[in-house]
Amino acid sequence: MAHSSSSVTGEFRLIRQLAERFSRSHPSVLRGIGDDAAVVRCSTRQRLLLTTDLLAEGIHFDLRTATFEDIGYKAAVANLSDIAAMGGKPHVMLVALALPRTATSSQVERLYRGMMRICRPCMVVLVGGDTSASRHGWFISMTMTGVASPHRILYRSGARPGDDLWVSGTLGDSAAGLQLLAGPTPSKLAPHHVRTLIARHRRPTPRIALGQLLASQKLATAAIDVSDGLSGDLAHVCEASGMGVEVVAATLPLSPALRAYALSRRMDAARLALQGGEDYELLFTAPSSARGRLERLSRRQARCPLTRIGTITRERFGLRLRQRDGELVAIPRLSYEHFSEPCDKTLTNGPPRR
Ligand code: ADP
Ligand code: MG
Repeated sequence: MAHSSSSVTGEFRLIRQLAERFSRSHPSVLRGIGDDAAVVRCSTRQRLLLTTDLLAEGIHFDLRTATFEDIGYKAAVANLSDIAAMGGKPHVMLVALALPRTATSSQVERLYRGMMRICRPCMVVLVGGDTSASRHGWFISMTMTGVASPHRILYRSGARPGDDLWVSGTLGDSAAGLQLLAGPTPSKLAPHHVRTLIARHRRPTPRIALGQLLASQKLATAAIDVSDGLSGDLAHVCEASGMGVEVVAATLPLSPALRAYALSRRMDAARLALQGGEDYELLFTAPSSARGRLERLSRRQARCPLTRIGTITRERFGLRLRQRDGELVAIPRLSYEHFSEPCDKTLTNGPPRR
């Protein structure tokens, strides 16, 4: 790090500096800082995956709009989704809490009920944690492990020129749901669209089975989960792989609810999809030879279709978006990053997120 007393500018720059300064190679550490989860060798036949996520009140959630069940559920999804992005099977979790003086045992109980609601069907077992008082709101940190087979792990770094870029489900719904929770509901938006978008924000689905399938059948070359927003998470894949990308705006998967929302707010739905965080969909690359199998897989998964949204290119071409008018432009970095100014304030009307 440049100077210990200088203030932090940019979450990802800070992480890079920490990795350069403090991480060390070790024969059993197959992947350290820089992917959705770390990968550690535990036997010749099995790999251990490790990930952790911290939720801070006022940054990641607002108690005026989120219930304790919502917060617990989403703490678990953030971790489950990282294991899914590596192609792993989630295993155990530890939960650390810092509670303000006003916290009640019933609130903590509801937080854990939300966590278990998604962890139980995924067979994830709570094995420990830590508890502390807090002077400044709630903090919830969850650490999760997963298991994977050697040579069946998806990394951010595997994309190759000419690979197709795919994404599961639809994009931007969660961000729209958050805006609806935080602000007035546009009068022209049908109530069922409002309910859909808010549900996508409050109860996102980690794509665990899909991640395992992509890894076990060696369909994907690289993967990441869309937690910060497509534009930023795509940049992580390109950077880790040393590649560029061309995304076709007209192919971005947008739900009917998001299209209706964008229309009612006179926003560009594609921009919401590029910006929107907390979708927890899987963004992955695959050789064109896998296209037929992925299309068949997509047809079988009615509730989570797979959409081809672009092509991996050489790094020198950068990250580009083919707009609807045919023009090729640089992809604007619209997704969320801690400690940095939002690039386009007109797009974010909700409370501060992550
Ligand atoms: P994700 O959005 O998938 O959870 P992050 O963007 O939070 O990933 O983190 C990217 C990488 O940086 C991960 O490998 C994570 O473990 C690592 N990382 C994040 N914060 C820190 C930190 N404070 N110290 C060490 N590693 C970190
Ligand atoms: Mg991730």
